[in-house]
Amino acid sequence: KPNEHTQQPAKMTDITAVQERDVTKVDRIGAHSHIRGLGLDDTLEARKVSQGMVGQDKARRAAGIILEMIKEGKIAGRAILLAGQPGTGKTAIAQAVSKAMAKDVPFTMLAGSELYSHEMSKSEALTQAFRRSIGVRIKEETEIIEGEVVEVQIDRPATGSGQKVGKLTLKTTEMETIYDLGTKMIESVIKQKVAAGDVITIDKASGKVTVIGKSYARARDYDAMGPQTKFVPTPEGELQKRKEVVHTVSLHEIDVINSRSQGFLALFSGDTGEIKPEVREQINAKVAEWREEGKADIVPGVLFIDEVHMLDIECFAFLNRALENAMAPVLIMATNRGITTIRGTNYQSPHGIPLDLLDRTLIVPTVAYKPSELSQILKIRCEEEDVDMADDALELLTSIAAKTSLRYAIQLITTANLVCKRRKGLEVEKGDLRRVYTLFQDLERSVHFLREYQAQFLF
Ligand code: ATP
Repeated sequence: KPNEHTQQPAKMTDITAVQERDVTKVDRIGAHSHIRGLGLDDTLEARKVSQGMVGQDKARRAAGIILEMIKEGKIAGRAILLAGQPGTGKTAIAQAVSKAMAKDVPFTMLAGSELYSHEMSKSEALTQAFRRSIGVRIKEETEIIEGEVVEVQIDRPATGSGQKVGKLTLKTTEMETIYDLGTKMIESVIKQKVAAGDVITIDKASGKVTVIGKSYARARDYDAMGPQTKFVPTPEGELQKRKEVVHTVSLHEIDVINSRSQGFLALFSGDTGEIKPEVREQINAKVAEWREEGKADIVPGVLFIDEVHMLDIECFAFLNRALENAMAPVLIMATNRGITTIRGTNYQSPHGIPLDLLDRTLIVPTVAYKPSELSQILKIRCEEEDVDMADDALELLTSIAAKTSLRYAIQLITTANLVCKRRKGLEVEKGDLRRVYTLFQDLERSVHFLREYQAQFLF
Protein backbone atom coordinates (compact mmCIF):
# COMPACT_ATOMS: atom_id res chain seq x y z
CA LYS A 1 0.00 0.00 0.00
CA PRO A 2 1.60 3.34 -0.93
CA ASN A 3 2.23 5.91 1.72
CA GLU A 4 -0.66 8.30 1.20
CA HIS A 5 1.09 11.27 2.68
CA THR A 6 4.30 11.31 0.72
CA GLN A 7 3.20 9.29 -2.30
CA GLN A 8 6.29 7.20 -1.81
CA PRO A 9 6.17 3.45 -2.22
CA ALA A 10 5.57 1.91 1.17
CA LYS A 11 7.97 -1.00 1.10
CA MET A 12 11.42 -0.25 2.33
CA THR A 13 13.10 -3.58 2.34
CA ASP A 14 16.59 -2.75 1.16
CA ILE A 15 19.15 -1.47 3.61
CA THR A 16 19.61 1.96 2.04
CA ALA A 17 15.93 2.68 2.39
CA VAL A 18 16.02 1.74 6.04
CA GLN A 19 19.02 3.97 6.62
CA GLU A 20 17.37 6.85 4.83
CA ARG A 21 14.41 6.59 7.10
CA ASP A 22 16.63 6.65 10.17
CA VAL A 23 18.50 9.70 8.96
CA THR A 24 15.26 11.66 8.61
CA LYS A 25 14.44 10.86 12.20
CA VAL A 26 17.80 12.09 13.42
CA ASP A 27 17.31 15.30 11.44
CA ARG A 28 13.92 15.94 12.93
CA ILE A 29 15.32 15.62 16.40
CA GLY A 30 18.30 17.80 15.44
CA ALA A 31 15.91 20.57 14.49
CA HIS A 32 14.94 20.89 18.15
CA SER A 33 18.35 20.43 19.73
CA HIS A 34 18.24 24.02 21.03
CA ILE A 35 15.22 23.27 23.20
CA ARG A 36 16.07 22.45 26.78
CA GLY A 37 12.79 23.06 28.55
CA LEU A 38 9.66 25.21 28.56
CA GLY A 39 11.46 28.31 29.82
CA LEU A 40 8.93 29.15 32.56
CA ASP A 41 9.53 30.94 35.85
CA ASP A 42 8.38 29.73 39.28
CA THR A 43 4.90 31.12 38.77
CA LEU A 44 4.66 29.26 35.45
CA GLU A 45 4.87 32.47 33.45
CA ALA A 46 6.75 32.18 30.17
CA ARG A 47 10.10 33.94 30.16
CA LYS A 48 10.56 35.87 26.92
CA VAL A 49 13.52 33.84 25.74
CA SER A 50 14.55 30.94 27.92
CA GLN A 51 15.81 27.38 27.57
CA GLY A 52 15.80 27.84 23.80
CA MET A 53 12.11 28.74 23.74
CA VAL A 54 10.77 31.98 22.30
CA GLY A 55 7.24 33.46 22.36
CA GLN A 56 4.18 31.15 22.16
CA ASP A 57 3.57 32.27 25.76
CA LYS A 58 0.07 30.93 26.25
CA ALA A 59 0.84 27.49 24.89
CA ARG A 60 3.99 27.31 27.01
CA ARG A 61 2.04 28.32 30.13
CA ALA A 62 -0.56 25.66 29.35
CA ALA A 63 2.20 23.11 28.83
CA GLY A 64 3.64 24.16 32.21
CA ILE A 65 0.36 23.37 33.94
CA ILE A 66 0.22 20.03 32.14
CA LEU A 67 3.74 19.35 33.34
CA GLU A 68 2.59 19.93 36.92
CA MET A 69 -0.24 17.46 36.35
CA ILE A 70 2.26 14.94 35.02
CA LYS A 71 4.53 15.41 38.03
CA GLU A 72 1.62 14.97 40.42
CA GLY A 73 0.50 11.84 38.58
CA LYS A 74 -2.80 13.43 37.55
CA ILE A 75 -2.48 13.08 33.80
CA ALA A 76 -3.58 9.44 33.59
CA GLY A 77 -6.30 8.77 31.05
CA ARG A 78 -5.86 12.16 29.40
CA ALA A 79 -4.17 13.31 26.24
CA ILE A 80 -2.92 16.66 24.98
CA LEU A 81 -3.59 18.13 21.57
CA LEU A 82 -1.48 20.93 20.15
CA ALA A 83 -3.45 22.59 17.39
CA GLY A 84 -1.95 25.16 15.10
CA GLN A 85 -0.46 25.96 11.75
CA PRO A 86 2.76 24.31 10.57
CA GLY A 87 5.91 25.68 12.12
CA THR A 88 4.22 27.14 15.19
CA GLY A 89 6.30 25.05 17.55
CA LYS A 90 4.07 22.06 18.26
CA THR A 91 6.91 19.59 18.09
CA ALA A 92 9.14 22.02 19.96
CA ILE A 93 6.66 22.26 22.86
CA ALA A 94 6.24 18.48 23.05
CA GLN A 95 10.03 18.11 23.18
CA ALA A 96 10.24 20.79 25.86
CA VAL A 97 7.71 18.92 28.02
CA SER A 98 9.73 15.71 27.83
CA LYS A 99 12.99 17.56 28.55
CA ALA A 100 11.40 19.10 31.64
CA MET A 101 10.20 15.74 32.96
CA ALA A 102 13.49 13.98 33.71
CA LYS A 103 16.80 13.40 32.03
CA ASP A 104 16.17 9.83 30.95
CA VAL A 105 12.55 10.19 29.87
CA PRO A 106 12.00 8.60 26.46
CA PHE A 107 10.57 10.80 23.72
CA THR A 108 9.04 9.06 20.73
CA MET A 109 7.85 10.80 17.64
CA LEU A 110 5.43 9.32 15.18
CA ALA A 111 3.77 10.96 12.21
CA GLY A 112 0.21 9.85 11.58
CA SER A 113 1.05 9.04 7.98
CA GLU A 114 3.88 6.73 9.07
CA LEU A 115 1.38 4.21 10.37
CA TYR A 116 0.37 3.36 6.84
CA SER A 117 3.88 2.81 5.59
CA HIS A 118 4.88 0.19 8.10
CA GLU A 119 5.10 -3.41 7.14
CA MET A 120 3.05 -4.24 10.17
CA SER A 121 -0.49 -3.68 11.33
CA LYS A 122 -1.47 -0.26 12.58
CA SER A 123 -2.16 -1.55 16.07
CA GLU A 124 1.26 -3.25 16.21
CA ALA A 125 2.95 -0.02 15.07
CA LEU A 126 1.04 1.94 17.72
CA THR A 127 1.81 -0.63 20.42
CA GLN A 128 5.50 -0.36 19.57
CA ALA A 129 5.32 3.43 19.67
CA PHE A 130 3.69 3.28 23.12
CA ARG A 131 6.24 0.81 24.44
CA ARG A 132 9.12 2.85 23.02
CA SER A 133 7.81 5.74 25.11
CA ILE A 134 7.84 3.85 28.41
CA GLY A 135 11.21 3.71 30.08
CA VAL A 136 12.32 1.07 32.55
CA ARG A 137 14.94 2.38 34.93
CA ILE A 138 16.97 -0.65 35.90
CA LYS A 139 19.21 -0.55 38.95
CA GLU A 140 22.18 -2.82 38.99
CA GLU A 141 24.99 -3.45 41.39
CA THR A 142 28.21 -3.70 39.54
CA GLU A 143 31.82 -3.79 40.45
CA ILE A 144 33.57 -0.70 39.33
CA ILE A 145 37.30 -0.77 39.55
CA GLU A 146 38.96 2.55 39.84
CA GLY A 147 42.67 3.05 39.69
CA GLU A 148 45.66 4.60 38.10
CA VAL A 149 47.04 3.04 34.99
CA VAL A 150 50.62 1.91 35.34
CA GLU A 151 51.13 0.26 32.03
CA VAL A 152 49.16 -0.17 28.89
CA GLN A 153 50.09 -3.00 26.67
CA ILE A 154 48.10 -3.86 23.65
CA ASP A 155 49.08 -6.65 21.31
CA ARG A 156 47.45 -6.39 18.00
CA PRO A 157 48.31 -8.95 15.35
CA ALA A 158 49.58 -7.02 12.35
CA THR A 159 47.81 -9.26 9.89
CA GLY A 160 44.57 -7.37 10.20
CA SER A 161 42.77 -10.46 11.40
CA GLY A 162 40.67 -8.17 13.51
CA GLN A 163 41.77 -10.07 16.59
CA LYS A 164 42.92 -7.99 19.48
CA VAL A 165 44.49 -9.01 22.72
CA GLY A 166 45.44 -6.61 25.39
CA LYS A 167 46.66 -6.13 28.89
CA LEU A 168 46.10 -3.22 31.11
CA THR A 169 47.94 -2.89 34.36
CA LEU A 170 45.99 -1.12 37.03
CA LYS A 171 47.58 -0.21 40.28
CA THR A 172 45.42 0.04 43.35
CA THR A 173 46.50 0.77 46.91
CA GLU A 174 46.59 -2.90 47.77
CA MET A 175 47.66 -4.66 44.69
CA GLU A 176 48.70 -4.47 41.15
CA THR A 177 46.25 -6.09 38.84
CA ILE A 178 46.67 -7.02 35.27
CA TYR A 179 43.49 -7.12 33.29
CA ASP A 180 43.04 -9.11 30.18
CA LEU A 181 40.82 -6.93 28.15
CA GLY A 182 38.01 -8.01 25.93
CA THR A 183 37.78 -6.55 22.42
CA LYS A 184 35.26 -3.99 23.60
CA MET A 185 37.54 -2.74 26.35
CA ILE A 186 40.53 -2.58 23.99
CA GLU A 187 38.56 -0.44 21.58
CA SER A 188 37.65 1.80 24.45
CA VAL A 189 41.24 2.05 25.71
CA ILE A 190 42.55 2.91 22.24
CA LYS A 191 39.77 5.33 21.49
CA GLN A 192 40.18 7.21 24.71
CA LYS A 193 43.96 7.09 24.38
CA VAL A 194 44.32 5.69 27.86
CA ALA A 195 47.86 6.08 29.07
CA ALA A 196 49.88 5.65 32.21
CA GLY A 197 48.91 8.08 34.90
CA ASP A 198 45.32 8.24 33.77
CA VAL A 199 42.75 7.51 36.40
CA ILE A 200 40.19 5.22 34.92
CA THR A 201 37.27 3.08 35.93
CA ILE A 202 36.36 -0.28 34.50
CA ASP A 203 32.82 -1.50 34.86
CA LYS A 204 33.28 -5.23 35.21
CA ALA A 205 29.76 -6.08 34.13
CA SER A 206 29.58 -4.04 30.94
CA GLY A 207 33.27 -3.72 30.18
CA LYS A 208 32.99 0.03 29.88
CA VAL A 209 36.23 1.92 30.39
CA THR A 210 35.93 5.52 31.50
CA VAL A 211 38.87 7.87 31.83
CA ILE A 212 38.33 10.19 34.75
CA GLY A 213 41.76 11.74 34.99
CA LYS A 214 44.33 12.47 32.33
CA SER A 215 48.06 12.35 32.57
CA TYR A 216 50.69 14.23 30.60
CA ALA A 217 51.21 11.10 28.53
CA ARG A 218 47.81 11.46 27.00
CA ALA A 219 49.00 14.24 24.78
CA ARG A 220 50.90 11.71 22.75
CA ASP A 221 49.04 9.86 20.08
CA TYR A 222 48.78 6.37 21.40
CA ASP A 223 47.85 4.73 18.12
CA ALA A 224 50.81 6.18 16.32
CA MET A 225 53.18 4.66 18.83
CA GLY A 226 52.69 1.10 17.76
CA PRO A 227 50.94 -1.84 19.26
CA GLN A 228 53.19 -2.40 22.26
CA THR A 229 53.88 0.58 24.39
CA LYS A 230 55.16 0.81 27.92
CA PHE A 231 54.56 3.77 30.10
CA VAL A 232 56.43 5.01 33.10
CA PRO A 233 54.65 3.96 36.28
CA THR A 234 53.01 6.74 38.24
CA PRO A 235 51.90 6.90 41.89
CA GLU A 236 49.34 4.55 43.31
CA GLY A 237 45.66 4.84 42.58
CA GLU A 238 42.39 4.19 44.32
CA LEU A 239 40.63 1.24 45.80
CA GLN A 240 38.09 -1.04 44.27
CA LYS A 241 34.53 0.14 44.65
CA ARG A 242 31.05 -1.20 44.46
CA LYS A 243 28.57 1.06 42.81
CA GLU A 244 24.97 1.06 41.87
CA VAL A 245 24.48 1.93 38.24
CA VAL A 246 21.18 2.87 36.74
CA HIS A 247 20.28 2.64 33.11
CA THR A 248 17.05 3.30 31.36
CA VAL A 249 15.83 1.24 28.47
CA SER A 250 12.45 1.30 26.83
CA LEU A 251 9.92 -1.49 27.18
CA HIS A 252 10.11 -1.90 23.43
CA GLU A 253 13.86 -2.50 23.58
CA ILE A 254 13.32 -5.20 26.21
CA ASP A 255 10.64 -6.74 23.97
CA VAL A 256 12.95 -6.82 20.97
CA ILE A 257 15.90 -8.26 22.87
CA ASN A 258 13.72 -11.03 24.24
CA SER A 259 11.89 -11.77 21.06
CA ARG A 260 13.40 -14.96 19.74
CA SER A 261 12.37 -14.27 16.18
CA GLN A 262 14.05 -10.86 16.21
CA GLY A 263 17.06 -10.72 18.49
CA PHE A 264 18.74 -7.55 19.64
CA LEU A 265 20.40 -6.88 16.28
CA ALA A 266 17.02 -5.81 15.00
CA LEU A 267 17.40 -2.72 17.19
CA PHE A 268 20.22 -1.48 14.97
CA SER A 269 18.45 -1.99 11.67
CA GLY A 270 15.44 -0.17 13.10
CA ASP A 271 13.20 -2.78 11.59
CA THR A 272 11.92 -4.88 14.43
CA GLY A 273 8.92 -6.47 12.77
CA GLU A 274 5.94 -7.67 14.77
CA ILE A 275 6.42 -8.86 18.31
CA LYS A 276 4.36 -11.72 19.67
CA PRO A 277 1.85 -10.84 22.39
CA GLU A 278 3.25 -13.68 24.57
CA VAL A 279 6.63 -11.99 24.60
CA ARG A 280 5.07 -8.73 25.77
CA GLU A 281 3.08 -10.51 28.48
CA GLN A 282 6.24 -12.16 29.77
CA ILE A 283 8.10 -8.87 29.76
CA ASN A 284 5.28 -7.11 31.60
CA ALA A 285 5.32 -9.84 34.25
CA LYS A 286 9.11 -9.67 34.56
CA VAL A 287 9.12 -5.89 34.86
CA ALA A 288 6.38 -6.07 37.50
CA GLU A 289 8.57 -8.53 39.42
CA TRP A 290 11.60 -6.23 39.19
CA ARG A 291 9.49 -3.35 40.45
CA GLU A 292 8.38 -5.34 43.46
CA GLU A 293 11.94 -6.32 44.24
CA GLY A 294 13.01 -2.70 43.97
CA LYS A 295 15.25 -3.46 41.01
CA ALA A 296 13.40 -1.30 38.50
CA ASP A 297 11.12 1.70 38.14
CA ILE A 298 8.80 2.62 35.33
CA VAL A 299 9.47 6.01 33.73
CA PRO A 300 6.57 7.07 31.53
CA GLY A 301 7.86 9.19 28.68
CA VAL A 302 6.24 11.22 25.93
CA LEU A 303 4.66 9.86 22.79
CA PHE A 304 4.23 12.62 20.24
CA ILE A 305 1.90 11.87 17.34
CA ASP A 306 2.15 14.49 14.63
CA GLU A 307 -0.50 14.86 11.88
CA VAL A 308 -2.92 13.05 14.19
CA HIS A 309 -5.78 13.72 11.72
CA MET A 310 -4.16 11.07 9.52
CA LEU A 311 -5.14 8.38 12.04
CA ASP A 312 -8.31 6.41 11.34
CA ILE A 313 -11.14 5.38 13.61
CA GLU A 314 -9.45 2.09 14.54
CA CYS A 315 -6.30 3.90 15.62
CA PHE A 316 -8.35 6.32 17.72
CA ALA A 317 -10.10 3.40 19.42
CA PHE A 318 -6.65 1.99 20.18
CA LEU A 319 -5.51 5.31 21.69
CA ASN A 320 -8.60 5.48 23.89
CA ARG A 321 -7.87 2.03 25.27
CA ALA A 322 -4.14 2.59 25.61
CA LEU A 323 -4.67 5.74 27.69
CA GLU A 324 -6.40 3.63 30.32
CA ASN A 325 -3.30 1.55 30.88
CA ALA A 326 -1.54 2.23 34.15
CA MET A 327 1.85 2.45 32.42
CA ALA A 328 0.70 4.78 29.63
CA PRO A 329 3.14 7.48 28.54
CA VAL A 330 2.03 11.08 28.17
CA LEU A 331 0.30 11.28 24.80
CA ILE A 332 0.78 14.56 22.96
CA MET A 333 -0.93 14.86 19.60
CA ALA A 334 -0.55 17.61 17.04
CA THR A 335 -2.61 18.74 14.10
CA ASN A 336 -2.90 21.67 11.73
CA ARG A 337 -6.42 20.79 10.62
CA GLY A 338 -9.71 22.33 11.66
CA ILE A 339 -13.03 20.56 11.05
CA THR A 340 -12.28 17.54 8.92
CA THR A 341 -13.44 14.01 8.23
CA ILE A 342 -12.47 11.30 10.69
CA ARG A 343 -10.63 8.81 8.54
CA GLY A 344 -12.47 5.54 8.07
CA THR A 345 -15.86 7.20 8.65
CA ASN A 346 -18.14 9.67 6.89
CA TYR A 347 -18.29 11.91 9.93
CA GLN A 348 -16.61 15.22 10.41
CA SER A 349 -15.25 16.41 13.72
CA PRO A 350 -12.88 19.06 15.07
CA HIS A 351 -9.33 18.15 14.01
CA GLY A 352 -10.62 14.85 12.59
CA ILE A 353 -10.57 13.33 16.09
CA PRO A 354 -13.59 11.39 17.39
CA LEU A 355 -15.51 13.08 20.18
CA ASP A 356 -14.86 10.39 22.78
CA LEU A 357 -11.12 11.00 22.48
CA LEU A 358 -11.54 14.78 22.23
CA ASP A 359 -13.49 14.59 25.48
CA ARG A 360 -10.44 13.48 27.38
CA THR A 361 -8.07 15.78 25.58
CA LEU A 362 -6.61 19.07 26.74
CA ILE A 363 -6.42 21.26 23.66
CA VAL A 364 -3.65 23.83 23.46
CA PRO A 365 -3.64 26.16 20.45
CA THR A 366 -0.40 27.45 19.00
CA VAL A 367 -0.39 30.74 17.11
CA ALA A 368 1.68 32.26 14.32
CA TYR A 369 4.86 34.02 15.38
CA LYS A 370 5.53 37.75 15.23
CA PRO A 371 8.51 38.78 13.08
CA SER A 372 10.54 39.64 16.19
CA GLU A 373 9.95 36.12 17.53
CA LEU A 374 10.84 34.52 14.21
CA SER A 375 14.03 36.53 14.19
CA GLN A 376 14.88 35.40 17.72
CA ILE A 377 14.26 31.72 16.91
CA LEU A 378 16.41 31.98 13.78
CA LYS A 379 19.14 33.64 15.80
CA ILE A 380 19.08 30.80 18.34
CA ARG A 381 19.27 28.27 15.51
CA CYS A 382 22.28 30.09 14.01
CA GLU A 383 24.03 29.85 17.38
CA GLU A 384 23.06 26.20 17.69
CA GLU A 385 24.47 25.42 14.27
CA ASP A 386 27.54 27.57 14.86
CA VAL A 387 26.74 29.86 11.97
CA ASP A 388 27.67 33.54 11.90
CA MET A 389 25.11 35.61 10.05
CA ALA A 390 25.19 39.30 9.16
CA ASP A 391 22.39 41.40 10.71
CA ASP A 392 20.83 42.31 7.37
CA ALA A 393 20.97 38.65 6.30
CA LEU A 394 19.11 37.68 9.48
CA GLU A 395 16.53 40.31 8.62
CA LEU A 396 16.13 38.84 5.16
CA LEU A 397 15.87 35.33 6.58
CA THR A 398 13.18 36.52 9.00
CA SER A 399 11.11 37.88 6.14
CA ILE A 400 11.60 34.60 4.25
CA ALA A 401 10.36 32.75 7.36
CA ALA A 402 7.30 35.01 7.53
CA LYS A 403 6.52 34.53 3.85
CA THR A 404 7.23 30.82 3.60
CA SER A 405 7.66 28.86 6.80
CA LEU A 406 9.87 28.85 9.84
CA ARG A 407 11.03 25.37 9.11
CA TYR A 408 12.04 26.30 5.58
CA ALA A 409 13.96 29.31 6.83
CA ILE A 410 15.77 27.14 9.38
CA GLN A 411 16.82 24.82 6.56
CA LEU A 412 18.35 27.77 4.74
CA ILE A 413 20.76 28.43 7.62
CA THR A 414 22.88 25.34 6.99
CA THR A 415 22.65 25.52 3.21
CA ALA A 416 23.51 29.23 3.07
CA ASN A 417 26.41 28.60 5.41
CA LEU A 418 27.79 26.01 3.00
CA VAL A 419 27.58 28.51 0.16
CA CYS A 420 29.28 31.09 2.38
CA LYS A 421 32.09 28.67 3.22
CA ARG A 422 32.57 27.87 -0.47
CA ARG A 423 33.26 31.50 -1.22
CA LYS A 424 35.46 31.60 1.89
CA GLY A 425 33.21 34.19 3.52
CA LEU A 426 33.33 34.84 7.26
CA GLU A 427 29.62 35.27 7.83
CA VAL A 428 26.47 34.42 5.91
CA GLU A 429 25.37 37.38 3.82
CA LYS A 430 22.20 38.25 1.96
CA GLY A 431 23.70 36.98 -1.30
CA ASP A 432 24.23 33.49 0.17
CA LEU A 433 20.61 33.38 1.29
CA ARG A 434 19.33 34.55 -2.10
CA ARG A 435 21.36 31.84 -3.76
CA VAL A 436 19.92 28.99 -1.68
CA TYR A 437 16.45 30.52 -1.72
CA THR A 438 16.32 30.24 -5.50
CA LEU A 439 17.97 26.85 -5.47
CA PHE A 440 15.78 25.09 -2.98
CA GLN A 441 12.26 26.34 -3.29
CA ASP A 442 10.41 28.76 -5.45
CA LEU A 443 8.03 31.24 -3.97
CA GLU A 444 5.12 29.95 -5.97
CA ARG A 445 5.28 26.54 -4.37
CA SER A 446 5.45 28.00 -0.88
CA VAL A 447 2.49 30.24 -1.50
CA HIS A 448 0.53 27.35 -2.88
CA PHE A 449 1.41 25.34 0.21
CA LEU A 450 0.25 28.09 2.55
CA ARG A 451 -3.02 28.62 0.70
CA GLU A 452 -3.74 24.95 0.91
CA TYR A 453 -3.35 25.01 4.68
CA GLN A 454 -5.22 28.27 5.11
CA ALA A 455 -8.28 26.77 3.49
CA GLN A 456 -8.19 23.77 5.78
CA PHE A 457 -7.53 25.61 8.96
CA LEU A 458 -10.78 26.55 10.66
CA PHE A 459 -11.08 27.53 14.25
P1 ATP B 1 4.69 21.04 11.75
O1 ATP B 1 3.24 21.25 11.89
O2 ATP B 1 5.21 21.36 10.37
O3 ATP B 1 5.15 19.72 12.28
P2 ATP B 1 5.45 22.36 14.18
O4 ATP B 1 4.31 23.21 14.61
O5 ATP B 1 5.64 21.07 14.87
O6 ATP B 1 5.41 22.17 12.62
P3 ATP B 1 8.14 22.88 14.88
O7 ATP B 1 8.71 21.78 14.07
O8 ATP B 1 8.06 22.68 16.32
O9 ATP B 1 6.74 23.26 14.32
O10 ATP B 1 8.91 24.25 14.59
C1 ATP B 1 9.77 24.48 13.51
C2 ATP B 1 11.16 24.84 14.00
O11 ATP B 1 11.14 26.01 14.79
C3 ATP B 1 11.80 23.78 14.87
O12 ATP B 1 13.18 23.77 14.61
C4 ATP B 1 11.52 24.27 16.28
O13 ATP B 1 12.46 23.77 17.20
C5 ATP B 1 11.60 25.77 16.11
N1 ATP B 1 10.67 26.44 17.03
C6 ATP B 1 9.35 26.49 16.89
N2 ATP B 1 8.78 27.18 17.87
C7 ATP B 1 9.77 27.57 18.68
C8 ATP B 1 9.81 28.38 19.86
N3 ATP B 1 8.70 28.87 20.42
N4 ATP B 1 11.00 28.63 20.40
C9 ATP B 1 12.11 28.14 19.85
N5 ATP B 1 12.14 27.39 18.74
C10 ATP B 1 11.00 27.12 18.14
